[in-house]
Amino acid sequence: MNSKYCTKCQKETKCEIVFKKSYPKIVEYFSKNSDGVVNDKFYRIHVLLYEISECKGCEEPTVHITEYCPEKDNPELSQKILSGLPDDSIKHISTFCFPNENYPEWVKSLDTEIMKVYFETFSLKTKKMYRFTAMGLRLIFDIISTKKVRDIGGFDKKLKKLFDENFISKSQYDSLKILIEAGNAATHRYFESTEEVIETCFMILDNLLKQDLITYSSKFIKNKIPKRN
Ligand SMILES: [Zn+2]
Repeated sequence: MNSKYCTKCQKETKCEIVFKKSYPKIVEYFSKNSDGVVNDKFYRIHVLLYEISECKGCEEPTVHITEYCPEKDNPELSQKILSGLPDDSIKHISTFCFPNENYPEWVKSLDTEIMKVYFETFSLKTKKMYRFTAMGLRLIFDIISTKKVRDIGGFDKKLKKLFDENFISKSQYDSLKILIEAGNAATHRYFESTEEVIETCFMILDNLLKQDLITYSSKFIKNKIPKRN
């Protein structure tokens, strides 16, 4: 029995591979001189392995596209790749799964403007474009804080005001400071965050967004609970 990542269950599950095909891809490699001019080019054959798995639990199909390439130029390896037989001597480059944009259901309840930016930022995360994801997370924080405390200046000023006016707790203040720093580092120092940094920043932001939804929902149900006589 095979096991692969299921995009609906969001974990590796037992599955059936209902389609499998490998296809070669010519990739150009190049190096640059210190003045930015390309000085050398060569080509290698990669292989793209296309698979569709069907989860044995939820029955949802998932498309997997896995890219492999040989560690160095070697006609025997290239032949092996062409025949779709990746082994240990062939480097695994990446795996892309589709559909892969399983944003949390509660996001649909957000303010429309924030929701749209959340979708864009989430989409960048799934494409592993971590610099822009970090910028997107900081942008969402900016929209939320501007709505609450108005456009009073930079991110740090807004964060402090949120804390001073009791919109956020001390622990939220500390974690949001890290989220802002990750966004600043991506914007000004071209810092490429790791998956761990981005996932943690999403948790920090989700916590802030969910708190707002909980506050709103609590007010809504308050009148539905009968008072004590
Ligand atoms: Zn599943």
